[in-house]
Amino acid sequence: MRLNEMLFVTLREIPAEAEIPSHQLLLRAGYIRRIGSGLYAYMPLMWRVLQKIAQIVREEMDATGAQECLLPQLQPAQLWQESGRWDTYTKAEGIMFSLTDRSDRELGLGPTHEEVITTIARETIRSYRQLPLNLYQIQTKFRDEIRPRFGLMRGREFIMKDAYSFHADEASLKQTYQAMDEAYRKIMTRCGLEFRPVDADSGAIGGSGSQEFMILADAGEDEILYTEDGKYAANTEKAVSLPPDMEKSPFSSYEKLATPNTETIALLAETLNCSPTIIVKNVLYEVVYDNGMIVLVLINIRGDRDVNQVKLTNELTKLAPQYQAKTIISLTVPDATAQKKWAAKSLPLGYIAPNLDDDYISTSKNVAKQFLRLVDHTVVDLQNFVTGANEVGYHVVGVNWGENFTLAELKVDIQQAKAGDRAIHDPSQTLVSARGIEAGHIFQLGTKYSEAMGANFTNEQGKPEPLWMGCYGIGVSRLAQAAVEQSYDQDGIIWPVAIAPYHVIVIVPNISDAEKMTAGEKLYQEFKQAGVEVLLDDRQERAGVKFKDSELVGIPYRVVTGRSLSAGKVEVVKRATKETQDLPIESVVATVKQWIEENI
Ligand code: ATP
Ligand code: MG
Repeated sequence: MRLNEMLFVTLREIPAEAEIPSHQLLLRAGYIRRIGSGLYAYMPLMWRVLQKIAQIVREEMDATGAQECLLPQLQPAQLWQESGRWDTYTKAEGIMFSLTDRSDRELGLGPTHEEVITTIARETIRSYRQLPLNLYQIQTKFRDEIRPRFGLMRGREFIMKDAYSFHADEASLKQTYQAMDEAYRKIMTRCGLEFRPVDADSGAIGGSGSQEFMILADAGEDEILYTEDGKYAANTEKAVSLPPDMEKSPFSSYEKLATPNTETIALLAETLNCSPTIIVKNVLYEVVYDNGMIVLVLINIRGDRDVNQVKLTNELTKLAPQYQAKTIISLTVPDATAQKKWAAKSLPLGYIAPNLDDDYISTSKNVAKQFLRLVDHTVVDLQNFVTGANEVGYHVVGVNWGENFTLAELKVDIQQAKAGDRAIHDPSQTLVSARGIEAGHIFQLGTKYSEAMGANFTNEQGKPEPLWMGCYGIGVSRLAQAAVEQSYDQDGIIWPVAIAPYHVIVIVPNISDAEKMTAGEKLYQEFKQAGVEVLLDDRQERAGVKFKDSELVGIPYRVVTGRSLSAGKVEVVKRATKETQDLPIESVVATVKQWIEENI
């Protein structure tokens, strides 16, 4: 392609709307244009990158025996009502765009396709003989994200590859899940990315095991915790760890002490001159379930640890049936206004004890009468600890479970793991933190959707059984930008060769110099004939502008018909290293072609 004939517009200034380097660079180099919040046009160069990624994804999916299809983006509400997800996805913080058609029927714009594919499976899969099956598509998804940001990283319209597998049993599901894990590793490797697979939370999609594929980059939204032995890596949302040992308590007998102005753990530890590891912190949360029920949650956790909201949400979702509910609508730390709605009297905030009486909750139809008491594992073995006295300005010290307070029954792991904690699989290993961009996520769904939607097959014994399912996503457009976030320098993008929009750019420094122009034109044709993806910068521009643009846009190899032409040579520059060499004009095409092949 000739730059002279392309819509090729680059920007010198950093666009004010962009915060992270990859977003700035994609805008500056003309790959994307913002059309609205979370909405971007993929310009021709970007589209080539996206298609290359999609092609790598397609090849690796096909190699596992998966079949490509294309499902409708407009999805009837009824399907989502059957699975029980319509309300969670369209109300409150739900991310599905929904609309009503001319016949007053409700529809949603697909944020994901479990419901659609399960309907198809329900209608087409009859027998175990048809299993296993894995169907995928590469398509635009729509999500009304609460905070669209960072360009393609979190768009409201983006490209995803999503696959859905169906099985006769769990073992078969695990096999395909494993095959997808391997395919994803190959995809990331072929795209030239540094990545790490991590244990992940399964979130609203549901199901049991899941793994995310993180592209390592400082600007990543996710924190990963891993061990140097390579045996453990997890998203912090999910990570487990052994907290540091508790320090020895200076208190050996039970006593109530005046501790004015010690609402925080730091102040309390300082006042009592003790370690936060011997303090039991009592934290209050307010959860609202989908049936409108409000439950006050009282958590006991060690003073030096924080509550992991994702883990807590999962525990509270498991407990939903106890309140005749299915899911959670919101989870908050109740502020003064929220407390007014249910508190019968003013709470001893900052001084709460594990046995805070249920009579702090006023009687009301939609408020659970009793605190839901959860004990984090970190406090179970504490001895002679410090905690609140249920009286503002007082704490108790030298406290023991069984003697002074009863340990509540529900013991859970809801602590936030942190860098520096010891690993569970090997306490001699400590957790290290890194930042990552989630590019892919694979899930074992189990029978959640097939049971909800009645998608059964007939097993070998002739009995109907719900289908086992897995689902596997890759954010194609997010991955493209993540590649930039991982690979750039002060002059611009450095595309991994395999996903670069073009491999070579031939630059004619001055197009009015006939000899240089002819040589450039000739090389351009030769590269094309050799099957190399090549751009020719034949614009009426200064040489400096052309060099800057080629660096900004990030084409892996630059060939310049410059001064060395008189010696029968051209200048070749590798974008990644800026390494420059003069190569004989007759062998340059073969040499560069070989470099490309070595890097794909
Ligand atoms: P996140 O946790 O980042 O919100 P998710 O868990 O909602 O993502 P999935 O439902 O697992 O994402 O979707 C599969 C893949 O689609 C993700 O791994 C990610 O690469 C991509 N993706 C998800 N949301 C977006 C978005 N708003 N913009 C671009 N890509 C996205
Ligand atoms: Mg995810």
